Amino acid sequence: MNKTFYITTPIYYSSGKLHIGNSYTTVLCDTMKRYKKLRGYDTRYLTGMDEHGQKVETVAKELNKTPQDLVDYLSNSTKDLWKLLDIQYDDFIRTTEKRHKKVVKKIFEQLLEQGDIYLGNYEGYYCMADESFFTKTQLGENNTCPDCGRKTKLVKEESYFLKLSKYEDRLLKHIDDNPDFITPESRKNEVVAFIKQGLHDLSVSRTSFDWGVKVVSNPAHVVYVWIDALSNYISALGYNTDDDSLYQKYWNGDEVIHVVGKDILRFHAIYWPIMLMALDVPLNFKLFAHGWYLMKDGKMSKSKGKVVYPGSLIEKYGLDPLRYYLLKELPYSGDGIFTPEDFIARINFDLANDFGNLLNRTISMANKYFDSKIYKPAKDYFDVDKELKDKVQETIDLYKEDMDKLKVSSAIQNIWKLISRTNKYIDETYPWVLAKDDSKKLELNNVLYNLIESLRLIGILLSPILINASKELFTQLNIPKELQKWDSLNFGELEKLTVTNKPSPIFPRLDKKVEEEYIQNLLNEEMIIEQNKLFKKEKI
Ligand SMILES: [Zn+2]
Repeated sequence: MNKTFYITTPIYYSSGKLHIGNSYTTVLCDTMKRYKKLRGYDTRYLTGMDEHGQKVETVAKELNKTPQDLVDYLSNSTKDLWKLLDIQYDDFIRTTEKRHKKVVKKIFEQLLEQGDIYLGNYEGYYCMADESFFTKTQLGENNTCPDCGRKTKLVKEESYFLKLSKYEDRLLKHIDDNPDFITPESRKNEVVAFIKQGLHDLSVSRTSFDWGVKVVSNPAHVVYVWIDALSNYISALGYNTDDDSLYQKYWNGDEVIHVVGKDILRFHAIYWPIMLMALDVPLNFKLFAHGWYLMKDGKMSKSKGKVVYPGSLIEKYGLDPLRYYLLKELPYSGDGIFTPEDFIARINFDLANDFGNLLNRTISMANKYFDSKIYKPAKDYFDVDKELKDKVQETIDLYKEDMDKLKVSSAIQNIWKLISRTNKYIDETYPWVLAKDDSKKLELNNVLYNLIESLRLIGILLSPILINASKELFTQLNIPKELQKWDSLNFGELEKLTVTNKPSPIFPRLDKKVEEEYIQNLLNEEMIIEQNKLFKKEKI
């Protein structure tokens, strides 16, 4: 039986269009799913939408729509975006679905019955204009609303609470016993420090709005976001239903990974595991919390007019450049920055020059010198042959190590080191000189074979990352299907092949100035469209 791999994004909140920050999480999970699939795992990838809450209710009212209409619209536009990004999710859960609400109700009642949830009073600072609660620490000067700046009012309302404090020690022990439960290390330390300050019980219901899952035993209350949203990871697998085969297979399987942004680390590292402990569900998951994509001058923010949407970038430049940029430019444990200049530079330098050009040159030489036909040489002809092969093996080893730890940026950087090494191999072996000497045919074939074999292996390593370019590489080199697979990841498996006689560049070089300007205008323009749509209430 194949090992199982279950990976999830957070469910995205239904209050506006998704920008490249949210897309990053989804692309990262997609890459991980493709990688594990390539390695023969039985994979399942879950994403979805968090569709309840006060903000949905408020926005829908402003738009003169029902909340259901609004969330239907937003979940469709999100699915369109994932299609554009070629995201291979297996399930898309929406918290407004019956299958989810049923499970949430059961979970809430069970925790209530057990005494892990109790009724008390919630105190918060309420903004009338935004109809939102804030905690003291979120407020501006003189208790003003962090969103609109108006004065907030201290309000008390009846609320159910989840007993977090009861599980503090067990959670700390779990973190201690499982060093890779929360990664990167720095995030784990944050969580541990927070728990050690002592946990306050968590308010898990509201009476101030309606749009949500009603508490069965007390319908004046709506289940608040924590229990509603977090349960999606198991409700989507049919947990606690008549058919829980997916839950048994994937949750109780080999690997479960939740990928989240650092802003929702605490919910996933504290509230979620405590919910699971209270429910007696095994804590089988690992949590990876990544940083943010920032703009040069700060956080990506709709209200400040600084936000990048993936749709227009893909339309203009294709899918792979965006996937490449997103996956490469966000370091494992820090933040990344999006700038038009860097985006165009990565296309021109990394994709067009280093990678695309290597493929194109190789195919052109195979056409020119050997009528497109290359075969496996009987031996090495140059000292650098072995160096190249060693570099390939080293890259494969590092790739496995990195990818298994979700260090995709590092995996990409190592692949590009191999691409550089392969380019250097051309400069070292002088194929154009060998071509002038008829007695050097075997040497020349050897050079081209080694280039093609490196490219084939690079294509396999890149296949979870650059979806179209890796396919295009296999097509132009005419690599048989069985040599595109993980188990053919050894230098020398290729016997012979006939490359295409019509090579075409997979990444055309772009005019730096023109394209940088284009993206800059796009950013300004899209801001206006977005504002019209959501804030001036047109079109939805
Ligand atoms: Zn406000």
